[in-house]
Amino acid sequence: MEIKAQLRGLSPYQPGKSIEEVKRQYGLSDIIKLASNENPYGCSPAVKEAIIRELDRLAVYPDGYARLLREKVAAHLGVKETQLIFGNGSDEVIQIISRAFLSAGTNTVMAVPTFPQYRHNAVIEGAEIREVPLVNGRHDLEAMLAAIDENTRVVWICNPNNPTGTYVTEQELRSFLERVPKHVLVVLDEAYYEYVRADDYPQTVPLLAQYDNMMILRTFSKAYGLAALRVGYGIASEALIQGMEPAREPFNTSSVAQAAAIAALDDQAFIRTCSDKTREGLEMFYRFCEENGLRYYPSQTNFILIDFAIEGNEVFQYLLERGIIVRSGNALGFPTSVRITVGSKEQNERVISALAQMI
Ligand code: PMP
Repeated sequence: MEIKAQLRGLSPYQPGKSIEEVKRQYGLSDIIKLASNENPYGCSPAVKEAIIRELDRLAVYPDGYARLLREKVAAHLGVKETQLIFGNGSDEVIQIISRAFLSAGTNTVMAVPTFPQYRHNAVIEGAEIREVPLVNGRHDLEAMLAAIDENTRVVWICNPNNPTGTYVTEQELRSFLERVPKHVLVVLDEAYYEYVRADDYPQTVPLLAQYDNMMILRTFSKAYGLAALRVGYGIASEALIQGMEPAREPFNTSSVAQAAAIAALDDQAFIRTCSDKTREGLEMFYRFCEENGLRYYPSQTNFILIDFAIEGNEVFQYLLERGIIVRSGNALGFPTSVRITVGSKEQNERVISALAQMI
């Protein structure tokens, strides 16, 4: 037996420490996890009822085409139902895109550091990876353009970018799309879309009418608070979606997840409230950084990358011992930083007061 060569150099996904693990390891009871950019307020209360209704139908396969959810999302975005593809999280949509476009002999362009799943899937497909360093924490679109050649199939733009929280502006994106060759698919991963406040952040759905070589990714895992249920989706031209559909698993989103996503989408007031509170939380972190002379990237997401000018692992460990799980920058390409998910007000206060004692 021989596992395919591309897989041998890859590690399985490292989810970080779980609350249970930290409880046991440090003998602590009150742990908070601010490591995976989850919503500290959970999800809309309407979701529970929708799930309970679904529980009577567990013996039946889900609707593989997710018709009801599809109708809802299409109406919400103002696109055709045929312009959507659903995945078991946007992670799966990234996998589908990679299966559909990448293979040995092709290459794919992405920023570094960015969300690691673009690279991971490209490695599995045997594509060459062209990583273009961020400049001041931001995508260098000119250098990304320069990295494209006739074998390039996909360019990934994580907007806002994980782990920096920075963004590509509407003007920058338009200028990029104008110049990208038409044989290249431009993927805009907008996992944190609902948190964005910047006026010059691109509204990409209307751009689809103009550019048929682009695709937008969104998810129910972040602001919608459904990370456990795994629903994400892609939006693109009808032809592109149809071309990709055969690469999707037949029943990739469960009926429970579909029903939950429909209920969550209906409660836009919940999203607005969470996004407002997150903004207030971010501002608490900004103030803390400014008062203490710490560098950070202003963020359009529900996380913040803070540079402590010492090993990220040290800060991570210090917080861990106090029952706070964050993400060390060492694993994210920023060795002197940590990435902290914005939590509830109480959680943010607890992190800030722990950090204040450290520095
Ligand atoms: N894209 C980005 C930029 C992310 O940060 C994440 C989650 N960490 C994902 C995609 C995947 O999210 P999900 O599979 O839960 O939709």
